[in-house]
Amino acid sequence: MHTVPHTRLLETHHIAELVARRGFRTVLNTLVDAIAHDYRRWSAFDKSSRMACHSVAGVIELMPISDGDWFSVKYVNGHPGNPKQGLPTVMALGALAPVHTGVPVLLSELTLSTALRTAATSVLAARAMVAAPPVCMAVIGNGAQSEFQALAFAGLMGVQQFRLFDVDPEASLRLARRLKTEGLQVSLCHSVDEAVQEADVITTLTADKCKAQLFTAQAVRPGAYINAVGGDCPGKTELHPDVLAAARVVVEYEPQTRVEGDIQQMPADFPVTELWRVLSGQVPGRQHPDQITVFDSVGFALEDFSTLRTWWQMAQEDNLGHWVSLAPSSANPKDLYGCLHAAHNGVVHAA
Ligand code: NAD
Repeated sequence: MHTVPHTRLLETHHIAELVARRGFRTVLNTLVDAIAHDYRRWSAFDKSSRMACHSVAGVIELMPISDGDWFSVKYVNGHPGNPKQGLPTVMALGALAPVHTGVPVLLSELTLSTALRTAATSVLAARAMVAAPPVCMAVIGNGAQSEFQALAFAGLMGVQQFRLFDVDPEASLRLARRLKTEGLQVSLCHSVDEAVQEADVITTLTADKCKAQLFTAQAVRPGAYINAVGGDCPGKTELHPDVLAAARVVVEYEPQTRVEGDIQQMPADFPVTELWRVLSGQVPGRQHPDQITVFDSVGFALEDFSTLRTWWQMAQEDNLGHWVSLAPSSANPKDLYGCLHAAHNGVVHAA
């Protein structure tokens, strides 16, 4: 039989189209459910910490994972200096393949997707870790991820008030304008402490390759939930060690977070809880109403696996994307050399 492997390619505008057709909130809810489902079947996954290539400017990482039926891998960079050159700090792409053939059935942009899946994961963790339905959220770092996070907490958790701070006031103004058009209340703050002191949820989304200490434990109200997203690389942290020491800390995949997360500052035996244990009901997300809880998020391959599987499903439903041929077409798969001589071997399939 002469089969031609073909791959569905989703570009950034296709992901925007998937979201526009279903609505931002519906897509986020779908991702929250997909990520929760996969975290609850944690033992099914073959997991590893991501492979990272560090440079002075930033990092480029590969994030593979498999559940035995499907395999996915994400390529992602983190370059805090990129916006000064007109480039995003974070850009990503990913591939999905069934393990029984290894044919990459989906290639997708994962830049918009990373912002969506990170916001979905933050909401998922928050639902298990907040003291009460949150009203007020501080957003520290008002760059590319910030609208996704703020609108996810508004749409899925009912947050109405946002307190913004960024060292770049223009970034805060852009975020404020967008949140106001959604009918949300916004305060522009002059310092991190001013932003966090009233907040039920504190989301940190800064990008700087340094050991930052954005606020101390004294600045945070009892029972606050800290969604720490920006400290995700060795030598790149956001939280003061006293905040971590005072809190219950939940992480995605402990071996990876020990190296990359805010807890890289803490002793190797500093107690943390993996998110899957909380989501599967083995342990509580918080132990008492006044406890400070921290989700030390660095981003885990499972979240991209869930996202790629969701995009695969939605793209099939909508018949969206391009077909591309990444493997040679030949009547005899052993005759790879023959493909060099085929005049027109770039077969592109219609959906
Ligand atoms: P971005 O560069 O678009 O925005 C970062 C913002 O932080 C900028 O506006 C910058 O001015 C501001 N900032 C830097 N230092 C600050 C400080 N000390 N106080 C206040 N503001 C400060 O980056 P982005 O795409 O929004 O990503 C934000 C961070 O989130 C990055 O560090 C990125 O690596 C991380 N991230 C994590 C995950 C995850 O899964 N955990 C996913 C995506 C991105």
